[in-house]
Amino acid sequence: MSTIKLLGTGCPSPSHIRFGPSTLVKVQNSNYLFDAGSGVTQRLNESGIKSSEIDLLFITHIHSDHIVDIYQLYISGWHQGREEPFKIVGPSGIREFFESQLKSFKRELEGRKKWEARPNENGLLYEIYEVDRDYVYEDNFAQVSPFEVDHKPVEPAYGYKIEFNEGGRNKKIVISGDTRKCNNLIEQSFKADALVHEVFIGLDFDGKRMTKKTLENIADYHTFPKEVGEVAKEALVEKLILTHFVPPVFDEKKLKADVEEVYKGEIVIGKDLLSIEI
Ligand SMILES: [Zn+2]
Repeated sequence: MSTIKLLGTGCPSPSHIRFGPSTLVKVQNSNYLFDAGSGVTQRLNESGIKSSEIDLLFITHIHSDHIVDIYQLYISGWHQGREEPFKIVGPSGIREFFESQLKSFKRELEGRKKWEARPNENGLLYEIYEVDRDYVYEDNFAQVSPFEVDHKPVEPAYGYKIEFNEGGRNKKIVISGDTRKCNNLIEQSFKADALVHEVFIGLDFDGKRMTKKTLENIADYHTFPKEVGEVAKEALVEKLILTHFVPPVFDEKKLKADVEEVYKGEIVIGKDLLSIEI
């Protein structure tokens, strides 16, 4: 059985209930991680998975809540014995982002390496694949294809489609990334076994930390509950798994009822550490 494990279902707002966005998809022996939100390595640890056991990190877009713990994942994987290079797939700009982090930590890391004298330094190597139009990742277990979603002005922003065969049946899992309702996501999710989708529930206006424009613009590049229902309905997906809740605390029953009005399939209101077998 393959598994989707929600490691972090929150957003940029700090929450001890919902950590930053990260989703693990396990297909046979491969661990594919989508985004490295705040607290991802702690959630992996709670799940009994070492950072060193992540085969590939896929980044949806360069927004802090999705990338803030990349360095922590990289370095803790080395501490935990990774002997392979750390591998990242992501949008253009991810190389510059990661290498600038390496630069910031260079002095600290050089000192640590010298003092700690660990047996392998291969785990500190890294490989970065910046996605272009035709990029598809493939190994013995699955094929993972990025596709464009609409989170403008953040460009590019990707969703990911994971396809594999299990028990003689083709299966498809789709990760929306951050997006407003968009046709490409609906097309790519067509008849997916599971669609893991972000949702914007609504923020209260607070004049101290936002303008009217702040609120309008945040809402504008995410997907409202009814729209999420429309996406799942139009794509005829088997199961809709909600994550990346903005805000992280909300009325779960109301959210489910709002989505249910439109989409009649199975709806899962995600929680950190929830595992769903596909
Ligand atoms: Zn986000």
